[in-house]
Amino acid sequence: MSEINSNSPDVLPEVAEFLGSAHHALIGAQWKMASDGRMRDVCNPANGDVIATVAECGPAEVDAAVKAASASFKAKVWRGTSVSERTQVLLRFADLIERDAEMFAQIDVLDNGMPIWLARMIIASGIEGLRYAAMIAATLTDENFSAATSSADRRLHAYSATQPIGVAALIIPWNGPAASFLVKAAPALAAGCSCIVKPAELTPLSALLLGKLALEAGVPEGVLNIVTGDGKVVGNALVEHPLVDKVSFTGSTVIGKEIARRAADRLKRVTLELGGKSPTIVFDDADLELAIPGAAMAVFANSGQMCIAGSRLFVQRKVFDKVVAGIGQVAGSLKIGNGMDPNNQLGPVISAQQRDRIAAIVAEGQEQGAEIVCGGGSPSGNGFFVEPTVVVGADKDSSLIREEIFGPVIAAIPFDDLDDVIPQANDSRYGLAAGVFTTDVNKAHIVADELEAGNVWVNCYGVTHPMVPFGGFKESGWGREFGVDGLQSYRESKSVVVQLHGS
Ligand code: ADP
Repeated sequence: MSEINSNSPDVLPEVAEFLGSAHHALIGAQWKMASDGRMRDVCNPANGDVIATVAECGPAEVDAAVKAASASFKAKVWRGTSVSERTQVLLRFADLIERDAEMFAQIDVLDNGMPIWLARMIIASGIEGLRYAAMIAATLTDENFSAATSSADRRLHAYSATQPIGVAALIIPWNGPAASFLVKAAPALAAGCSCIVKPAELTPLSALLLGKLALEAGVPEGVLNIVTGDGKVVGNALVEHPLVDKVSFTGSTVIGKEIARRAADRLKRVTLELGGKSPTIVFDDADLELAIPGAAMAVFANSGQMCIAGSRLFVQRKVFDKVVAGIGQVAGSLKIGNGMDPNNQLGPVISAQQRDRIAAIVAEGQEQGAEIVCGGGSPSGNGFFVEPTVVVGADKDSSLIREEIFGPVIAAIPFDDLDDVIPQANDSRYGLAAGVFTTDVNKAHIVADELEAGNVWVNCYGVTHPMVPFGGFKESGWGREFGVDGLQSYRESKSVVVQLHGS
């Protein structure tokens, strides 16, 4: 197996300076060390180097951050401002992120390992989402029921309005750090909430820079707090804190269920964006020039570390061999290495543990009858790299077919026709996403209608937009992010009925 060159090319001087600076929690408008002074090393998955140390917070810091958020909410320093003022601040925040976009991209590459092209793309989409949330907040209107509820002998003024929910805990994953922060913080702030962001312990750095720019943009003290640290410690303390009104979480289904159970005690509002085992379906009438690279990158992009990864590939029998060979060719042609090198298309996976887990699932699948068409190994070198891998013949109950792998591994399965593929595609406890490749518009719509998935892409994959709701069916989550629904999930509806007297 090839050796990976995982040396880091030079980073911007401002990135080097940022990495060398102190990384503490943002509580109110202050950067605070953990009360016991503990710090955690953050490492670059491309070579294992420690690139920064970050405050390892605990329940005391969570309590202080939640109290700061709650005080700012009660004092109405943010929700009490006009929507146009809030929009202006958030648009300024977006401009500052755009000014430093290359810095964000490089920090996420060093922290997460993703290739720089992807980091640039996702920070741009995060900025777009922030601008969109800021602008739609100004368009939310109340509903007026006065005419419908009034009658000849009773005159009513009845309306329903929404208000910000309160204090929101935003728990984000490591697979797209800066963008994940914005996917939650943008609607929460635009909705008028005060919030506490908990970045993943493996990738906390871009969150801290975002916190700095939010303050610079004019987000008032206490409205945006950031607490770094362990999921079980900081995450649990946030979910259980009595002053937290809403939890929005992106991560694994196992942890999502645990959060739902803990939040249920106080019936906190919960949004969950969880795992997936998404099908990509290629019909024999598909444009294979589009379908082959589309299905390949549906799972190989970000080394498969995407909740939407299209990890089950259903191919109509007539074109099965051709499509599988084509995807194998794409896999073999992808350049793997340090994400900072713009020539590389795939970076490492996040950790040695994750690399070993992926290898174990592939090995177990082989024992259960799967055959490797290409990949299947881990290139040597210091970083945590995994070769893009294509398998066929996997047992339908093996982890290759049932479990979210979060790695660049695709299992190809032949099918006969539409009636054969739909039940197979839906045979999963997950329901996040799906891709369909066909030139038959009618078939595309039927499949989209039949699939149990919150997001269906036709002749493309993974295309998201801040206007288009995103989320999952079944065990892939609760609620939707993006769009008006996403913003409204940070607001609570209130109905007011006033009986009027006189003429
Ligand atoms: P993944 O499985 O994708 O690594 P996790 O679901 O473990 O992701 O974690 C996603 C986010 O949830 C991270 O910020 C992590 O620190 C946090 N987290 C982990 N465990 C818990 C928990 N028990 N309660 C709340 N948050 C948690």
